[in-house]
Amino acid sequence: MSRPDLLDRLAAAQAERARDALLRRLRTVDDGDATSIVVGGRRLTGFASNDYLGLARHPELVEAMTTAARRDGVGATAAHLLGGHRREHAALEAELADWTGRERALLFSTGYMANLGVLQALLDRGDLCVQDRLNHACLLDGARLSGATLRRYAHADVDSAARALAIQPDAAALLATDGVFSMDGTIATLPALAALCRAQGALLMVDDAHGIGVLGPEGSGSLRASGVAEADAAVLMGTLGKALGTGGAFVAGPAALVDGLVQFARTHVYTTAMPPPVAAATRAAVRLARHEHWRRDHLAALVAHFRNGAVQRGLVLLDSSTPIQPVAIGDSARALAVAAALEEAGFFVPAIRPPTVPANAARLRVTLSAAHRIDQVERLLDALVEAGAVPAADTPP
Ligand SMILES: *Cc1c(COP(=O)(O)O)cnc(C)c1O
Repeated sequence: MSRPDLLDRLAAAQAERARDALLRRLRTVDDGDATSIVVGGRRLTGFASNDYLGLARHPELVEAMTTAARRDGVGATAAHLLGGHRREHAALEAELADWTGRERALLFSTGYMANLGVLQALLDRGDLCVQDRLNHACLLDGARLSGATLRRYAHADVDSAARALAIQPDAAALLATDGVFSMDGTIATLPALAALCRAQGALLMVDDAHGIGVLGPEGSGSLRASGVAEADAAVLMGTLGKALGTGGAFVAGPAALVDGLVQFARTHVYTTAMPPPVAAATRAAVRLARHEHWRRDHLAALVAHFRNGAVQRGLVLLDSSTPIQPVAIGDSARALAVAAALEEAGFFVPAIRPPTVPANAARLRVTLSAAHRIDQVERLLDALVEAGAVPAADTPP
């Protein structure tokens, strides 16, 4: 028998990653919040969490979760369609729809599952799915799962997207983009993409995992920030585990979309509903995100401070105005070395390497939170320089 051994193959792939400085390491965190993390027995100042508004440990969320758990129990105990759809879920869906200015919303257990479910429900073999090259992995996986033809266009390049759509002018088509790109922090050109989709009869889907809570009026996301209405972007996916500090996701859009997803999105139908206390805590998070504008104002001040300080020190940043502020490094081994030196100096900033980002585009993904102070950002900037994050004069990143 010459059958390959699957575990041997996995080990070989892992060895190859190690050779290329691409090995991931799972670390146990003893304590952590938006601005600090305890690993290996040391407390580090953290610039890695997606808790952009600093809500994950907010007493109102903790209280809402505890109260709901005492009243409703911990788990939903069934799928939404089979008795698991509790009052807290229904109320949260209505509040998310109201916040994002959409007709209806539907909960999913994670953003990954929401994207898989939406794309599998909407698309079939023979259809066309057009996506930005830097979209999140789960949008790409959803397109593959659907059986549609997947065409990827150059990052943020609307002409490239138009060419991808034009190749199959008669196919049913969906264009999917991140609202804020998770590893770059850049914002999609949504009005131009919406105009393209309208002209081409394609459906526009926006994954706003990093825009919800952060951008737009009351933090309602990148679509409202750019003035694109529901009629021009039928599918909005938002996650609850980032700025809202809890976990799970939702899809918001016209009733025809949500009703269809209830029937056909397999990741909604065939899975246990989100624990009701998580829904209760998320309702508290939505209230705070909508009404505590100071969180976004302070975040914007931190972003400006970081960018100005980085320019002064010769650090190379990506062109981002969001709390995701990656420092470009390039080489994976060098990115790891800088991250290690930062950790030595008391800062936790992970190195992001391929295949999460393109080849030779390793970076330190700095994320800022409303819970950070200006002086912490100042010390991070100095530590980045000390750790070797400034490119040598003759080596462009
Ligand atoms: C985090 C993320 C997801 C996945 O959301 P989870 O709820 O963590 O599964 C999807 N899309 C983007 C752009 C993300 O950053």
